[in-house]
Formats: sequence, C-alpha cells, structure tokens
Amino acid sequence: MRKQKIIITGAGLAGSLLAVYMAKQGFLVDIYERRPDMREEQLDGGRSINLALSIRGIHALQEVGLAETVLAESIPMKGRMMHPVEGDLIYQPYGIREDEAIRSTSRGGLNRQLMDAADEYDSVNIYFNRRCTGVDFRSGEIQFLDEKTGENSIVSSDAIIACDGSASAVRMDMQKVGRFNLSQMYLAHGYKELTIPSSPGGGFLIEKEALHIWPRGEYMLIALPNLDGSFTCTLFFPFEGENSFSSLNSPDRIHAFFASQFPDTIALIPDLQTDFLENPTGKLVTIRCSPWHVGGKALLLGDAAHAIVPFYGQGMNCAFEDCTVLNQMIDSFGDDWETVFAEFSRSRKPNADAIAQLALDNFIEMRDSVADPKFLMKKKLERLLETTFPGEFLSTYSRVTFHRSPYSEALARGRVQDQILMDICQSVDSIEKLDLRQVLSKLKEGF
Ligand code: FAD
Repeated sequence: MRKQKIIITGAGLAGSLLAVYMAKQGFLVDIYERRPDMREEQLDGGRSINLALSIRGIHALQEVGLAETVLAESIPMKGRMMHPVEGDLIYQPYGIREDEAIRSTSRGGLNRQLMDAADEYDSVNIYFNRRCTGVDFRSGEIQFLDEKTGENSIVSSDAIIACDGSASAVRMDMQKVGRFNLSQMYLAHGYKELTIPSSPGGGFLIEKEALHIWPRGEYMLIALPNLDGSFTCTLFFPFEGENSFSSLNSPDRIHAFFASQFPDTIALIPDLQTDFLENPTGKLVTIRCSPWHVGGKALLLGDAAHAIVPFYGQGMNCAFEDCTVLNQMIDSFGDDWETVFAEFSRSRKPNADAIAQLALDNFIEMRDSVADPKFLMKKKLERLLETTFPGEFLSTYSRVTFHRSPYSEALARGRVQDQILMDICQSVDSIEKLDLRQVLSKLKEGF
C-alpha cells in the first residue's frame, strides 16, 4: 500500500516533535522550515533562551522515547524564589513531592535534539530556508520560497500540518476560505532577555534549582537557570508609559531604574545596559481561532492554532500535548484525515482556550499577587491541603503543571477553588487556626 505523505510547516518545537510521532506511525514526512539549520548556524544572536518543561511536555517526550535524553540536559526548578525590593528572599516550593519540579530547558538545545531525533528516520526529510508562502486548500498544494535562491516551488501531499508558529502562514491563508474566526490580542507589555552570567568558577550566582521572580506590580523580572551556570532573565515590561521600554532609553536611566527596582541584579547582570539596549524587545500575543482545519487537507497545531502568553510556562507543553492527542486520533481513525483533524480540534480547542485564559490570569498573579501577604497565605494553605489530603486536593498550579487532567477542568475547578480559599484567607490572620477538614468540605461543596 502507498505510504501517505505529510507536509509539516515549521521545524520548531512542535513541528520537530510531531515529525517523530508521524514517522513512528509509518508516514512519510517532509518538514519545511523558514530558518537555516540551527544545528549548523547560530540563531537568536547566540543568546541562550530557556523554557520551563513540565508534565504534559515530558509525557509527550516519553511517548517517543526522548524524555530521558532531554531531562538529562535540564535543571529542576523546585520552587519560586521571590526577590523583594528590600528584605529577605521568599521561597515557595512548587510541589509536594521531590519529583514535582518544572525543568529549565534550553530552547535551542531541545529543538536540536528533536530535529536530530526526526532525522534518524529515513522517512523524514527536513528542508531548511524554505518559507511557506501559500496554500491551495482545494488541491492540497503548498508553495514555498527558497530564502537562499529566491526560487519558488509547489509541492503536494496527503495532508498538511501547520506548525509554523504564532504568525502562521497557513493560518493566514485559512482566513481566505470559509468562515474563519480569528482573535489576535497583544499585551501592552513586551519582554526583553538579559543574562546573569555564571560565577568566574562556573557556578550559579543565585539559587540554582528555582525560578526566580522579582514581582513589582505593573511589571516583573524572572530568571531561569542554564546548565553552564548562567541564568536567562526576562523582563516583562510595558511598551509605553512612565516606566516602560520607551522611557528606559539610555544607559543611565536603565541603571537608575534597575538600582531602585531590582537592586540585587546590579551586581548580577554586568552587561545590563548593553543587553537592554541591544537585545530585541519581544511582543506577547494570544491567538484564538477556529476552525483549526480545512477538511482533511490542512490542520493548525501548536502556536499556529493557539499562541498564548508565557506566564504559566505552558505554550510548548500545550503544543507537545497537541502531538499526543493528534497521535491518539490517528490511532483511532487512521489516515481518515478529515475525521482525525475534526476530532482533534473538538478535543483540543476548549483546552487551548482554557490555558490561554489561565496564562493571562497568571500574569497578574506572578507580577502582583506574589507580593500580597494574603496571596502568600493562600499559597501556604494550598500546600498544607495538598500534603494533608494527597489525592483529595490539588491546587490549580499543580493541576496544570504536574497533572495531565484537561486544562479546561483546571480552569473551571480553579476558579471556584481559588475564590473559596481566598475568601477563607481574608477572614483569618493565620492559617494555623483553620480546621483543614472543614476547608476541604467547603471546597467539595463548592464544586
Ligand atoms: P515555534 O516554536 O514558534 O516554531 C515555529 C517554527 O516555524 C519556527 O521554527 C519558525 O522558524 C517556522 N516558521 C515560521 N513561519 C514559517 C513559514 N512561513 N514557513 C516555514 N516555517 C516557518 N512555553 C512553555 O511551555 N514553557 C515556557 O517556559 C515558555 N516560555 C516562553 C517564554 C517566552 C518569552 C515566549 C515568547 C514563549 C514561551 N513559551 C513557553 C511558549 C513557547 O515558546 C511556544 O509555545 C512554542 O515555541 C510553540 O512551538 P511551535 O513549534 O508551535 O512554534
């Protein structure tokens, strides 16, 4: 029987992982990637950028036999370390078990590992410097521009899966057919990456196994560890206004602002002003769209279908979970692409919408509430409930990060639960006075 050929646009995180899943299913896979091969050329200006990998992503990597290799190159972050403007650092563990940690992973390193894994299959070809420029959804033909030679080519396949990220070219063309719904929402905040280098001996200058947060209300700085002892910091900051990317426009202003708002970083980030002025400022967007597919011809997956803001550390994890779910649909419906794509969309869309909302909500929590004593009390209470009643109580964070129950369930339960716990915390001055069994019953009544 003729083997079906799948075209994947984008050899990013989702596209490369999906190629491995597809090769395992026995399909021929051609991936077309806009950028050069990152295993041969340095991209992102050589900066190391990292991501938090958690259970949904790890599960997908386990399914294709890559988890061990990837985790060996990651650093567990067992809790949040908060840096107030003055006073002692505050540490909050993330989970209740030793293995409940999120893993700081190099974006480039992980992408290279996934491409290598895809390349191991004779049935997978990756074409670099090929930008998708258009799709004919009737014929299933797709057009690419060779960024090096300027030549155009048209290729056909049995199905197209678009993993070409938040500015997906395939999604752009979907807007021209049928009744395509699209919402694109930019935050008024952007982000800038800065670096805390390793100590001269190669060690970590701040706690290695933590995600560091400098919460400051309207903005925040975070830092995740890298294997070489450095930390990649990300400043989430307004584009405009009194304290903003547009106002911090000179070395003196940058230094003065950091000295007053993030004083402990002055000694940690030696290239602060240069990095700040030279590194690009990124935008943060939430994309919601539907339908995700055109019949059995083409499907959107990962950020192409549902780009979200990064405050729950779930964009990649969600994209990897997409791969798990698509694989399950192929197990059930084979190469009946129309059914596979429709069932995938039906199952994933409510969950993508839910994590998009959770991620937006978590921005407020991370930049603001972590500095609020009542919020810290609620976090303590959640932890106490989780350790006292394992299996009976889960915080929303745990449900999203350490469990694989649907995001939609985490959002629905979380809203009710968080309100009840916050109300309880507002009514007492210490959680030691609470009857935990009673709190648990109240929560159960709430659902
Ligand atoms: P991408 O990774 O964007 O890959 C798309 C690929 O398609 C790229 O290789 C691109 O070059 C290629 N491409 C684009 N256009 C074309 C075209 N026309 N033709 C051919 N190829 C094309 N997620 C987490 O889970 N944890 C985190 O801690 C986390 N932190 C983040 C921090 C920041 C600041 C940001 C912005 C995002 C973060 N994310 C995180 C989200 C995560 O980066 C994305 O969800 C993830 O990269 C999505 O993978 P993807 O493959 O769908 O898209």
